[in-house]
Amino acid sequence: MRTVIYPGSFDPVTNGHLDVVQRATRLFEKVIVAVAENDAKQPLFTLEERRALVSEAVRCWPNVETDSFKGLLIEYARRRRANAVIRGLRAVSDFEFEFQLALINRRMDESIETIFVMPRDTYIFLSSRIVKEICRLGGDVSAFVPPSVHRALLRHYGCVLPPAPSAASG
Ligand code: ADP
Repeated sequence: MRTVIYPGSFDPVTNGHLDVVQRATRLFEKVIVAVAENDAKQPLFTLEERRALVSEAVRCWPNVETDSFKGLLIEYARRRRANAVIRGLRAVSDFEFEFQLALINRRMDESIETIFVMPRDTYIFLSSRIVKEICRLGGDVSAFVPPSVHRALLRHYGCVLPPAPSAASG
């Protein structure tokens, strides 16, 4: 079974990340979205919260699983018997870091390929950091994140929550 790992902080998951997941589902039989536990970063959401928000957002794809990992990505990828790692490439600004990461990972394990996908142009400008900043300043981020993430952000920043979608309203 061809398996790909999509690693990231997902703090929180955005529609740009989900665009990458969707592309991955068409290329691989199994996609593992792996939420990184990184002591060097100070995330807004805890590892458990980030993982739960990803889980909720990928529920519609039967071949997508959510997991978390700590330590070296390549070791995690080996443990999960993955063939590849997928990353999103938004702009030239992403390129240098992603290029270094891919080559270092190849150096550590030649058998695990890194592949890059570009999101839809509407998501090129989107990042978790921008979404948090807009929300913190009172802007509307509902077009950029799934509904559960929107609610989590509003809750975090102490805003008035919109009504939860009911079964009746579809
Ligand atoms: P990391 O801390 O690993 O960069 P992120 O959650 O910020 O974690 O990003 C994970 C991956 O998703 C990275 O490859 C990043 O380039 C990609 N990504 C983030 N936002 C977008 C987006 N809007 N469109 C496409 N890829 C994205």
